Amino acid sequence: MGSLAFTEKPHAVCVPFPAQGHINPMLKLAKILHYKGFHITFVNTEYNHKRLLKSRGLDSLNALPSFQFETIPDGLPDQSDIDATQDVPSLCASTKKNCLAPFRNLLLKLNDTSSSHVPPVTCIVSDGVMSFTLDAAAELGIPDVLFWTTSACGFMGYAQYRRLIEKGLTPLKDESYLTNGHLDTIIDWIPGMKGIRLRDLPSFIATTDLDDVMLNFAMVEAERAQRASAVILNTFDALEHEVLEGLSTMYPSICSIGPLHLLVNQIPHNNYKLIGSNLWKEESCIEWLDKREPDSVVYVNFGSITVMTSNQLIEFAWGLANSKQAFLWIIRPDLVRGDSAVLPPEFLEETKERGLLANWCSQEEVLSHPSISGFLTHSGWNSTLESVCGGVPMISWPFFAEQLTNCRYTCIEWGIGMEIESDAKRGKIESLVRELMVGEKGQKLKKKATEWKKLAEESISPTGSSFVNLDKIINQVLLASA
Ligand code: UDP
Repeated sequence: MGSLAFTEKPHAVCVPFPAQGHINPMLKLAKILHYKGFHITFVNTEYNHKRLLKSRGLDSLNALPSFQFETIPDGLPDQSDIDATQDVPSLCASTKKNCLAPFRNLLLKLNDTSSSHVPPVTCIVSDGVMSFTLDAAAELGIPDVLFWTTSACGFMGYAQYRRLIEKGLTPLKDESYLTNGHLDTIIDWIPGMKGIRLRDLPSFIATTDLDDVMLNFAMVEAERAQRASAVILNTFDALEHEVLEGLSTMYPSICSIGPLHLLVNQIPHNNYKLIGSNLWKEESCIEWLDKREPDSVVYVNFGSITVMTSNQLIEFAWGLANSKQAFLWIIRPDLVRGDSAVLPPEFLEETKERGLLANWCSQEEVLSHPSISGFLTHSGWNSTLESVCGGVPMISWPFFAEQLTNCRYTCIEWGIGMEIESDAKRGKIESLVRELMVGEKGQKLKKKATEWKKLAEESISPTGSSFVNLDKIINQVLLASA
């Protein structure tokens, strides 16, 4: 397909939700489509585009011919002192309300043969929570594939929100329901999910407000996915077989196409690596890791949105220090709520030989490094999947959304993690880190993680489920109108 004439090229417009954990997998998918012969327009928000230019530079965005970036506004007010895009409910409400009009205009511009130098748009691949694109696709009569960047179990959780409301399980009658055992109710009617408790479902059910922005946003977006030409998930069949089966009774065209970062690594050309999506500037940690013994370092990173109190930060710091294990700890500049992250000088002094602190790193590289033996994570889906692919067991400290569901599956279904409660103190953190790194349980989790890693690799081999599914989506859906 690489030799198609310019005008014959299919043209996919890729629209991620404007947050790090959504842009990363969408960019990977866009690269794969480009490698398979598509012209790509990758649509960032203006705000994120500026950040990418700052962290990666213009060259990184121009590295591939027929791979262009365009922008639309996110609709949030421009405030120079705070990063409004870290406020998830506002960002969800704003994109839903404000993005369709500029997106329509962008499609008009791309399709205007008098001024545009790109092939006509033939399909849209959009984040599952940017479902306004369905309306634009319908107007043009082209396919729109919705990419839910969650786990299948997380997506299933959102897809049950209306039923949970109908059954009176959410919203909660009052705040006492957060602690009176209600959240321990076993939900036994979700297809493909056994033994799940209400508290394991994506966190927006833990509200007392029927009009809660996130409860409604996630519910409606999951329902709108019924209208998509297909729904795709960055997971693999062996890992989430039963939930995927359950989902296919509700969304007949759903399929797993991950782990995308393993698929994209198969592309032989180096220029693909030049285009990156990190919104924060990476610091290199690999040289430091190279100097450590194999299987000796615990990696700590809570992703791009999680925030904590300074007390929690201090407890994590002393838990890590007292565990006496080597660690790589990524502390995002805005990790501590309303404050800058300040670590006690005694902690820094005590751990300077065996700890490395950085603001942001190349996580996929870190998680596939031989020195890494455990991951203390917030259980965001990308982080979880990257850990699975690195064969790295986890300690899970879920923060919000479907991270709670991922935590449940990591610890109970897949047998590769241990949960840590949200207000854990240093003693508990110390003992869990030790258990993970040098304890018997840690060894068991590691063995299981190595098995999942192998299955992840099999899924992207030429006969693997994800490889085959992706080919099907490309040939039977995305190219159907080209
Ligand atoms: N990430 C990274 N470097 C960091 C922290 C995160 O490259 O220091 C990447 C990570 O590899 C993952 C994404 O950012 O692809 C985070 O997504 P995830 O779903 O794990 O969590 P979220 O940030 O959405 O909560």
